[in-house]
Amino acid sequence: MRAAVLHEYKQPLKIEEVARPECGADEVLIRVEGCGVCHSDLHLADGGWPQLLSAVAVKKPLIMGHEVVGRVVEKGGDVSDVAVGERVGVAWIYWSCGQCRMCKEGLENLCSRQAITGVTVDGGFAEFMKAKASHVTRVPEAMTAEEAAPLFCAGLTVYRASKRAGVRAGQRVAVFGVGGLGHLAVQIVRCLQAEVIAIDVSEEKLELARTLGAEHAVNAAAGDFAAQMKKIGGPHVALVTSGSKAAYDQAFSSLRPDGTLGVIGLPGEDLSFPAIVMVAREMRIVASSVGTRADLKELMELAAGGKVKCRTEARPLGEINEVFEEMRRGKILGRVVVSA
Ligand code: NAD
Ligand code: ZN
Ligand code: ZN
Repeated sequence: MRAAVLHEYKQPLKIEEVARPECGADEVLIRVEGCGVCHSDLHLADGGWPQLLSAVAVKKPLIMGHEVVGRVVEKGGDVSDVAVGERVGVAWIYWSCGQCRMCKEGLENLCSRQAITGVTVDGGFAEFMKAKASHVTRVPEAMTAEEAAPLFCAGLTVYRASKRAGVRAGQRVAVFGVGGLGHLAVQIVRCLQAEVIAIDVSEEKLELARTLGAEHAVNAAAGDFAAQMKKIGGPHVALVTSGSKAAYDQAFSSLRPDGTLGVIGLPGEDLSFPAIVMVAREMRIVASSVGTRADLKELMELAAGGKVKCRTEARPLGEINEVFEEMRRGKILGRVVVSA
């Protein structure tokens, strides 16, 4: 089968023929219909996360891609709850143990034994991938693979983050970064009946945010950014969905007292905020890591009702390196979904 393979960090992925995966007793083989390209794939390919590289065993060579939707074409002997022909999706959490304290507390996204799609095991930048039957999620037939795929990481992550940051009706919520994650965050926050302030460095993305219902759209690069935010009123919550450290600094200083900084985007550098300001303003910092199968189920229902819709662009898998380059330059509007 054809796949895009990472051999070395900072090198282009190689499009090559590799063996089609064989599914084990508890696994399904999926013909990939579409796989979203997440900025996390790019961070990983660029070797941009030293902390991750020292904490988890990244597979090499590796097929990345963790927003996967496709059809089940084969299943292992022990699989009874997923049928051949069904359309399913695979998220970042490829497998969690179900036994550890975190799993038992409903925090499978924090399972210490987890396998990660497209990081510790092969993902969806390929014609086929195998997955654990227990961890795939059904995709309604009414949704196309292209519109469903980005929900499996981008949508799921911001859905959980909005819940964890305690977004409530009537609040002002700033979404820093209107990219793959951020443009879905704008819609999810709107669903929660909060007022959205969209922030990005690109006018095109701010325009997209306005069409998605953001009440305010502010350019982070504007000289009077702080003054504009002050005029709108400091947000109760800032969801930072940009991988830029500068976005965190701006988010932290624009929050109202008693505000919540939602840590979602993943710059390689450490974040640092002065304790005196944190204390004087009683700030909360809440990080959020992708999501659980339960979060995903809730999100699929919301999306099936038409309330959350990803803006997508379909591209051939063979263009993955060009897509990465466009993402580096911040040129992608919404999400690119590739297929072989
Ligand atoms: P993306 O490239 O699609 O979007 C990033 C957006 O940030 C772009 O629109 C860009 O213009 C904007 N931006 C850049 N600099 C900015 C600044 N200074 N201020 C405001 N906006 C700025 O990326 P994505 O796929 O949406 O991923 C975003 C981040 O989220 C990445 O760091 C990714 O690794 C991370 N992520 C985290 C989780 C998690 O579980 N916490 C899950 C998925 C992705
Ligand atoms: Zn992702
Ligand atoms: Zn576990």
